[in-house]
Amino acid sequence: MDLILFGPPGAGKGTQAQRLIDILEIPQISTGDLMRAERKSGSALGKEFDEFMSKGLLVPDELVLRLFQQRLDQEDAKKGAIFDGYPRTVPQAESLDGVLAERDRKVDVVVSIEVGLDEMIERIVHRRSCEACGQIYHLRYNPPPRADACSCDGKLVQRKDDTEEVVRKRYDEYLQKTAPIVDHYKKKDVVKAVDGVGTLDEVTDRIKQAIGGVS
Ligand code: AMP
Repeated sequence: MDLILFGPPGAGKGTQAQRLIDILEIPQISTGDLMRAERKSGSALGKEFDEFMSKGLLVPDELVLRLFQQRLDQEDAKKGAIFDGYPRTVPQAESLDGVLAERDRKVDVVVSIEVGLDEMIERIVHRRSCEACGQIYHLRYNPPPRADACSCDGKLVQRKDDTEEVVRKRYDEYLQKTAPIVDHYKKKDVVKAVDGVGTLDEVTDRIKQAIGGVS
Protein backbone atom coordinates (compact mmCIF):
# COMPACT_ATOMS: atom_id res chain seq x y z
CA MET A 1 0.00 0.00 0.00
CA ASP A 2 1.16 3.54 -0.75
CA LEU A 3 -0.30 5.98 1.73
CA ILE A 4 0.15 9.73 2.12
CA LEU A 5 -0.15 11.11 5.63
CA PHE A 6 -1.27 14.64 4.95
CA GLY A 7 -1.82 17.63 7.22
CA PRO A 8 -0.37 20.90 8.50
CA PRO A 9 2.85 21.01 10.54
CA GLY A 10 2.16 19.51 13.97
CA ALA A 11 -0.84 17.47 12.81
CA GLY A 12 0.90 14.32 14.08
CA LYS A 13 2.04 12.91 10.73
CA GLY A 14 5.45 11.78 12.00
CA THR A 15 4.09 10.38 15.27
CA GLN A 16 1.29 8.46 13.54
CA ALA A 17 3.65 7.26 10.78
CA GLN A 18 5.92 5.70 13.42
CA ARG A 19 2.90 3.80 14.78
CA LEU A 20 1.69 2.68 11.35
CA ILE A 21 5.04 1.16 10.34
CA ASP A 22 4.38 -1.92 12.51
CA ILE A 23 0.68 -2.12 11.68
CA LEU A 24 1.07 -1.90 7.90
CA GLU A 25 4.59 -3.42 7.69
CA ILE A 26 5.82 -0.76 5.30
CA PRO A 27 8.43 1.95 5.99
CA GLN A 28 7.90 5.66 6.62
CA ILE A 29 9.46 8.01 4.11
CA SER A 30 9.80 11.46 5.68
CA THR A 31 11.47 14.00 3.41
CA GLY A 32 11.93 16.27 6.46
CA ASP A 33 13.89 13.49 8.25
CA LEU A 34 15.94 12.79 5.11
CA MET A 35 16.82 16.48 4.85
CA ARG A 36 17.69 16.80 8.52
CA ALA A 37 20.05 13.79 8.16
CA GLU A 38 21.67 15.43 5.13
CA ARG A 39 22.00 18.71 7.04
CA LYS A 40 23.58 16.90 9.99
CA SER A 41 26.14 15.30 7.67
CA GLY A 42 27.41 18.81 6.88
CA SER A 43 27.24 18.21 3.09
CA ALA A 44 26.82 21.04 0.58
CA LEU A 45 23.33 19.72 -0.21
CA GLY A 46 22.48 19.74 3.52
CA LYS A 47 23.55 23.38 3.75
CA GLU A 48 21.34 24.18 0.78
CA PHE A 49 18.36 22.52 2.52
CA ASP A 50 19.07 24.50 5.69
CA GLU A 51 18.75 27.82 3.84
CA PHE A 52 15.05 27.05 3.33
CA MET A 53 14.23 24.92 6.36
CA SER A 54 15.51 27.38 8.97
CA LYS A 55 13.21 30.07 7.53
CA GLY A 56 10.14 27.82 7.41
CA LEU A 57 10.15 27.78 3.60
CA LEU A 58 9.67 24.77 1.37
CA VAL A 59 12.78 23.35 -0.31
CA PRO A 60 12.57 23.60 -4.14
CA ASP A 61 10.81 20.65 -5.77
CA GLU A 62 13.75 19.44 -7.89
CA LEU A 63 16.01 19.10 -4.83
CA VAL A 64 13.36 17.10 -2.97
CA LEU A 65 12.50 14.75 -5.82
CA ARG A 66 16.01 13.30 -6.15
CA LEU A 67 16.25 12.63 -2.42
CA PHE A 68 12.78 11.08 -2.36
CA GLN A 69 13.37 8.81 -5.35
CA GLN A 70 16.60 7.42 -3.88
CA ARG A 71 14.73 6.47 -0.72
CA LEU A 72 11.75 5.00 -2.59
CA ASP A 73 14.04 2.68 -4.53
CA GLN A 74 15.52 1.09 -1.42
CA GLU A 75 14.55 -2.54 -0.94
CA ASP A 76 12.25 -2.05 2.08
CA ALA A 77 10.01 0.38 0.17
CA LYS A 78 9.39 -1.89 -2.82
CA LYS A 79 5.97 -3.03 -1.58
CA GLY A 80 4.70 0.33 -0.42
CA ALA A 81 5.42 3.19 1.94
CA ILE A 82 3.95 5.79 4.25
CA PHE A 83 4.73 9.20 2.82
CA ASP A 84 5.15 11.76 5.60
CA GLY A 85 5.70 15.36 4.49
CA TYR A 86 5.82 14.41 0.82
CA PRO A 87 4.29 15.60 -1.48
CA ARG A 88 4.18 19.23 -0.29
CA THR A 89 3.20 20.96 -3.56
CA VAL A 90 0.92 20.07 -6.49
CA PRO A 91 3.95 19.58 -8.82
CA GLN A 92 5.42 17.17 -6.21
CA ALA A 93 2.11 15.29 -6.15
CA GLU A 94 2.13 15.04 -9.94
CA SER A 95 5.70 13.79 -9.97
CA LEU A 96 4.91 11.30 -7.17
CA ASP A 97 2.03 9.92 -9.26
CA GLY A 98 4.43 9.56 -12.21
CA VAL A 99 7.22 7.97 -10.18
CA LEU A 100 4.78 5.44 -8.68
CA ALA A 101 3.16 4.71 -12.07
CA GLU A 102 6.61 3.86 -13.50
CA ARG A 103 6.77 1.21 -10.76
CA ASP A 104 3.19 -0.05 -11.37
CA ARG A 105 2.03 1.62 -8.17
CA LYS A 106 -0.29 4.46 -7.23
CA VAL A 107 -1.32 6.50 -4.23
CA ASP A 108 -3.93 4.21 -2.65
CA VAL A 109 -5.07 6.55 0.09
CA VAL A 110 -4.45 10.06 1.39
CA VAL A 111 -5.19 10.38 5.10
CA SER A 112 -5.78 14.05 5.82
CA ILE A 113 -5.20 14.70 9.54
CA GLU A 114 -7.11 17.78 10.61
CA VAL A 115 -6.11 20.12 13.47
CA GLY A 116 -6.58 23.87 14.06
CA LEU A 117 -3.84 26.52 14.14
CA ASP A 118 -3.75 27.06 17.94
CA GLU A 119 -3.56 23.32 18.65
CA MET A 120 -0.82 23.01 16.03
CA ILE A 121 1.36 25.73 17.58
CA GLU A 122 0.86 24.34 21.07
CA ARG A 123 1.97 20.90 19.89
CA ILE A 124 4.97 22.10 17.97
CA VAL A 125 6.55 24.34 20.58
CA HIS A 126 6.36 21.47 23.09
CA ARG A 127 7.67 18.86 20.65
CA ARG A 128 10.98 17.15 21.33
CA SER A 129 12.63 14.37 19.39
CA CYS A 130 15.38 11.89 20.11
CA GLU A 131 18.68 12.61 18.36
CA ALA A 132 19.50 8.90 18.35
CA CYS A 133 16.31 7.01 17.36
CA GLY A 134 13.97 9.76 16.10
CA GLN A 135 11.20 9.03 18.64
CA ILE A 136 8.88 12.04 18.95
CA TYR A 137 7.53 13.29 22.31
CA HIS A 138 5.23 16.08 23.49
CA LEU A 139 6.35 17.47 26.85
CA ARG A 140 2.78 17.35 28.25
CA TYR A 141 0.73 14.84 26.27
CA ASN A 142 3.32 12.23 25.41
CA PRO A 143 6.13 13.00 27.85
CA PRO A 144 9.54 11.31 27.69
CA PRO A 145 10.54 9.04 30.60
CA ARG A 146 13.03 11.71 31.78
CA ALA A 147 13.03 15.44 31.04
CA ASP A 148 15.98 15.37 28.66
CA ALA A 149 16.37 11.74 27.57
CA CYS A 150 14.56 9.22 25.39
CA SER A 151 13.68 5.68 26.49
CA CYS A 152 16.73 4.61 24.39
CA ASP A 153 18.89 7.05 26.43
CA GLY A 154 19.37 9.28 23.37
CA LYS A 155 19.43 13.04 23.88
CA LEU A 156 16.16 14.92 23.32
CA VAL A 157 16.35 18.00 21.15
CA GLN A 158 13.97 20.66 19.87
CA ARG A 159 13.94 21.13 16.11
CA LYS A 160 15.44 24.44 14.98
CA ASP A 161 12.27 25.24 13.02
CA ASP A 162 9.91 24.50 15.93
CA THR A 163 9.72 28.09 17.21
CA GLU A 164 6.39 29.93 17.04
CA GLU A 165 7.72 32.44 14.49
CA VAL A 166 8.98 29.78 12.07
CA VAL A 167 5.86 27.64 12.62
CA ARG A 168 3.65 30.52 11.45
CA LYS A 169 5.74 30.79 8.28
CA ARG A 170 5.51 27.03 7.77
CA TYR A 171 1.74 27.27 8.17
CA ASP A 172 1.57 30.02 5.50
CA GLU A 173 3.55 27.78 3.16
CA TYR A 174 1.17 24.94 3.97
CA LEU A 175 -1.94 26.99 3.17
CA GLN A 176 -0.53 28.42 -0.06
CA LYS A 177 1.35 25.50 -1.54
CA THR A 178 0.47 22.27 0.25
CA ALA A 179 -3.28 22.42 1.00
CA PRO A 180 -4.22 22.42 -2.75
CA ILE A 181 -2.87 18.86 -2.96
CA VAL A 182 -6.10 17.65 -1.36
CA ASP A 183 -8.11 18.74 -4.40
CA HIS A 184 -5.62 16.95 -6.67
CA TYR A 185 -6.29 13.68 -4.81
CA LYS A 186 -10.01 14.29 -4.23
CA LYS A 187 -10.38 14.04 -8.01
CA LYS A 188 -8.94 10.54 -7.70
CA ASP A 189 -11.34 9.78 -4.84
CA VAL A 190 -8.65 8.61 -2.43
CA VAL A 191 -8.87 11.25 0.35
CA LYS A 192 -10.02 10.27 3.86
CA ALA A 193 -10.34 13.04 6.45
CA VAL A 194 -9.48 12.16 10.04
CA ASP A 195 -9.91 14.30 13.17
CA GLY A 196 -6.37 14.76 14.53
CA VAL A 197 -7.43 15.95 17.99
CA GLY A 198 -7.49 13.25 20.67
CA THR A 199 -5.12 10.78 22.28
CA LEU A 200 -2.46 9.11 20.13
CA ASP A 201 -4.42 5.84 20.30
CA GLU A 202 -7.67 7.52 19.30
CA VAL A 203 -6.09 9.11 16.25
CA THR A 204 -4.35 5.85 15.27
CA ASP A 205 -7.70 4.04 15.53
CA ARG A 206 -9.36 6.64 13.33
CA ILE A 207 -6.62 6.24 10.72
CA LYS A 208 -6.93 2.45 10.82
CA GLN A 209 -10.67 2.78 10.31
CA ALA A 210 -10.19 5.27 7.46
CA ILE A 211 -7.83 2.96 5.57
CA GLY A 212 -9.75 -0.21 6.37
CA GLY A 213 -10.65 -1.92 3.14
CA VAL A 214 -7.87 -0.16 1.22
CA SER A 215 -5.24 -2.66 0.15
P1 AMP B 1 8.81 18.26 8.25
O1 AMP B 1 9.83 17.47 8.98
O2 AMP B 1 8.00 17.41 7.32
O3 AMP B 1 7.97 19.14 9.12
O4 AMP B 1 9.63 19.26 7.28
C1 AMP B 1 10.50 20.25 7.83
C2 AMP B 1 10.96 21.20 6.73
O5 AMP B 1 11.68 20.47 5.71
C3 AMP B 1 9.86 21.91 5.97
O6 AMP B 1 9.41 23.09 6.64
C4 AMP B 1 10.56 22.23 4.65
O7 AMP B 1 11.48 23.31 4.79
C5 AMP B 1 11.38 20.97 4.43
N1 AMP B 1 10.64 19.92 3.68
C6 AMP B 1 10.29 18.67 4.13
N2 AMP B 1 9.64 17.98 3.18
C7 AMP B 1 9.56 18.81 2.11
C8 AMP B 1 9.00 18.68 0.81
N3 AMP B 1 8.36 17.56 0.44
N4 AMP B 1 9.10 19.73 -0.04
C9 AMP B 1 9.72 20.87 0.32
N5 AMP B 1 10.28 21.07 1.53
C10 AMP B 1 10.20 20.05 2.42
